[in-house]
Amino acid sequence: MKEKNIIHHTYQPKEERSYRVAIKYLHHSVDVQELKEEISRMGHTVRNIINTRHRITKDPLNLFFVDLEPSGNNKDIYKITRLQNSVIQIEPPRKGKHIVECTRCQLYGHTKSYCNRPYVCVKCSGQHNTASCKKDNTTPATCALCGGGHPANYKGCRFYQKHYHAKYYTHHNGPSSPTPSDPTTPIQNLCSGSTGL
Ligand SMILES: [Zn+2]
Ligand SMILES: [Zn+2]
Ligand SMILES: [Zn+2]
Repeated sequence: MKEKNIIHHTYQPKEERSYRVAIKYLHHSVDVQELKEEISRMGHTVRNIINTRHRITKDPLNLFFVDLEPSGNNKDIYKITRLQNSVIQIEPPRKGKHIVECTRCQLYGHTKSYCNRPYVCVKCSGQHNTASCKKDNTTPATCALCGGGHPANYKGCRFYQKHYHAKYYTHHNGPSSPTPSDPTTPIQNLCSGSTGL
């Protein structure tokens, strides 16, 4: 039997994560409130809409992030092709660009507030809080994740790259949208050692 999830929990902890999508090609000048109403009329409960800005120039971009209340029909939002009289495209937000790293145990994917693992030092990989590290700057760092000669939060770390790839590809086969050719492809053969070509 199917029970519809009608009950709204008003005191849900933060774990009730919203379902975020990106709207592309929508002019930044649209009225966010109207946009919200339009999406709502299509059967989605909008929690929040964010217009993105250029990281450097701070100019508004024609790209919006929409946070939906979690619901069984969340994926239907990808079927929308017009909003505010514009042809738009809705896609999952880019995943994998940034993965949180725990500053306590140095593992990725959670933050220190959720961690009860032993402390691992970001600099020397010793079992202590980084703040109390005795390593001087002339001693090379030791990565707690791969054992390499860099701090554990180094983004070129083999372990990080592996994790990054994993994340990127799990989220990649999301909705049935063929991936448009993306000029900003973030990954370029980081794994392949020698290419025969
Ligand atoms: Zn941790
Ligand atoms: Zn240390
Ligand atoms: Zn490493």
